[in-house]
Amino acid sequence: MTTTLKTCTYCLITKPAEGNFYRQRNGYRSICKACVAMQNARYRTMHAEETKAYGAAWREKNPDYQKQWQEANPDKVKAYGRKRGGKP
Ligand SMILES: [Zn+2]
Repeated sequence: MTTTLKTCTYCLITKPAEGNFYRQRNGYRSICKACVAMQNARYRTMHAEETKAYGAAWREKNPDYQKQWQEANPDKVKAYGRKRGGKP
């Protein structure tokens, strides 16, 4: 049995494909498991920070937005509530 070696396009390290790369339909992914994990972790961290900061800043600027929107759109609130709570 031969070992397939694969070079990660991200860290550029050549490793045996089996065990180090995630499989996909036609073989293996081009990025190794270690880099996928690192990217995922980094993305989650960045995304969480961005979302948190953006949401907090926005709510600070628009403290009454939700209330005002609900008062301005009672029909939409009703429809939304029905859609969420209703069962088919
Ligand atoms: Zn890699």
